[in-house]
Amino acid sequence: MGGAGACHSDLHLLQAPAQGFALPFTLGHENAGWIEKMGPGTTGFAPGDAVIVYGPWGCGLCVNCRQGMENYCQATGQPVPGGLGGADGGMAEYLLVPSTRHLIPLGGLDPRDVAPLSDAGLTSYHALKRSLHLLGPGSTAVVIGAGGLGQMAIQMLRALAGAATIVAVDTSADKLKIAGTLGADAALVSGDGAVATIRDITGGQGAELVLDFVGVDATLGMAARVARVLGHLTIVGVGAAALPVNFHSPPHECSVAVPFWGSVPELIEVIALAQRGKIRMVVEHFALEEAARAYDLLHDGKINGRAVITPNG
Ligand SMILES: [Zn+2]
Ligand SMILES: [Zn+2]
Repeated sequence: MGGAGACHSDLHLLQAPAQGFALPFTLGHENAGWIEKMGPGTTGFAPGDAVIVYGPWGCGLCVNCRQGMENYCQATGQPVPGGLGGADGGMAEYLLVPSTRHLIPLGGLDPRDVAPLSDAGLTSYHALKRSLHLLGPGSTAVVIGAGGLGQMAIQMLRALAGAATIVAVDTSADKLKIAGTLGADAALVSGDGAVATIRDITGGQGAELVLDFVGVDATLGMAARVARVLGHLTIVGVGAAALPVNFHSPPHECSVAVPFWGSVPELIEVIALAQRGKIRMVVEHFALEEAARAYDLLHDGKINGRAVITPNG
């Protein structure tokens, strides 16, 4: 193992671990490292190769898995690593990966720096990719929540939808400042003022794409007010609030989606973006013995970017 990202979803697991699989298990679903040893009959990689591990391990045989969308595997009880599906994760010296199809070569990228791309990067990428056809010249994309995933989304939108106006919305002035340096055209403090400014920017029409990385009542309400007719409203944040849907809101034919994680081909594209220097993720490294401290800091909101556990230094 090179790096295993400490993710907010792990904090939920730590608080409520009883989800039908046996304790104890090893955390870590954002994994990257170097091939130590190939299993019998496997080919395609050699010891020492740097790889990132695709996280949602499906059955590999159903139609969604065959299309690379193992995040939507139709079989139940698949052994997703790190507590999300019962298999041991990457916060250990070694991680046993059941198939080479979950491995993507990293080339010159350092596993310790890019491990979180397998979730924080891939989830953002998958969430916005379905909407790229809406984001031509004159269009607007709104990113609500400029934390780790939102910062990824801003950079990806800049790289893939360069002609669109990108608007970041957050409650934190620090995060809005970062959003500006990453390519947001406007960075707005959350609230009624932001809604008015976005309506201004879009000539009163609203934005083609609204990504909500928070998912609480206040942000979902704002998302519905700044989306446009025929637009996309995509909820990524697990705030677990409810979005009222009726004839009057969201706007007519605005499609609402709640995506989960991403596909294998999309992770290959995320790695290509990283290799070309189009996206960067701020990471803080922690030794394996410091993992509990990393989660405490994460819990207290004291991690800048992502915490990565590095079991082999
Ligand atoms: Zn994660
Ligand atoms: Zn499957």
